[in-house]
Amino acid sequence: MEKEITLRSGTVIHAISRKDADAKNYLTRQTLSQLHLMPSGDPIAFEVSESGSLVYYFDPEKVIEAPIEMWYSPTSRKESFTLESGSVIERMSVKRAAACNYYTEEKLHKMNYEVIEEPVAYTYKADRSMLFFYDKKTAKRLPLMCVRCGKDVRYKKKLCESCYEKEMDIRRAEGDRLRGASYGMDRSKVLFFDLELTGFYDHDEILSITVVDGNGKLVMDTLVKPVHTKKWNRTEKIHGITPDIVKDAPTLAELTPQIKEIFEDAENLIAYGVSTDFSHIKYIYDGEDEREKLHGKIRCCANEFVRYIHEHRPDVQHASLIDAMDCFGIEWEGVPHSSIADTFACRKVWNVLFPNYYAE
Ligand SMILES: [Zn+2]
Repeated sequence: MEKEITLRSGTVIHAISRKDADAKNYLTRQTLSQLHLMPSGDPIAFEVSESGSLVYYFDPEKVIEAPIEMWYSPTSRKESFTLESGSVIERMSVKRAAACNYYTEEKLHKMNYEVIEEPVAYTYKADRSMLFFYDKKTAKRLPLMCVRCGKDVRYKKKLCESCYEKEMDIRRAEGDRLRGASYGMDRSKVLFFDLELTGFYDHDEILSITVVDGNGKLVMDTLVKPVHTKKWNRTEKIHGITPDIVKDAPTLAELTPQIKEIFEDAENLIAYGVSTDFSHIKYIYDGEDEREKLHGKIRCCANEFVRYIHEHRPDVQHASLIDAMDCFGIEWEGVPHSSIADTFACRKVWNVLFPNYYAE
């Protein structure tokens, strides 16, 4: 039989003889119950009864007064039962037992607990057979099982390793099918774009816009002079665009007709991490319908990269554009974090992810 066990709290406790327990004034549940007390902490030691179940001992310093419904009443014999270990347990209703956090073995098993301690109370079933209750606090928590097969312990996403691998095989095949498919796109109608901004919030303004088409042709590359923002020290450190650099640049309003014309012809607008870019570029349109139409053309290269690494490269933990370039071993042209370099980089990453994207 076990000489020590690890409690759910992580505390390791040791087996002890009744004699030693008595010498240390350790208390069993039964004694505590007779004193109208209950443990306030973990058991301090245990003894294995002849029937093989555990009898816990508690530290007399760590007890609290028991609520009145838990009081042990040494009345008639019918109301209590003596276990093989000598522990006397009390009869109580299922409802009262639940109030004390006591459950049947079957119920605990459903809650994913294994009973190791001896029963702490009992009741009678309709057929007068006995039904024992066990303390949930001291029951052993079982590892969670796979939601699909129920046979093995969970590994990832609530599935066991083998079910997870099967699931990943299906997803990977589906991802590969989507990435490998022929889309027959017209190179001149697929546009990649990137913006540099004064900050990351909705009210921040655009400082530069680059648009490149599927042929790698630079369609637009311009600085933009913000109208409301005078300084952007934090993002300046990232993209290097100073207020002085953009002082003679056109404003977004001035560029809007040209951008609209470019976007109008496009079938797809691809960016790396589109949510930020979209939330700023959408302001070239006033109406919700036009913004929706623009949104419908947008594809996110970062989302596709995240899906790819999830399916093929679990070793890649991060998914910035720099990470994507590293992952595929693609050389940068220009300085990362400038809209022109980022746009060309985005196009290259997309080409690796979707090798048959274009008609030719
Ligand atoms: Zn499974």
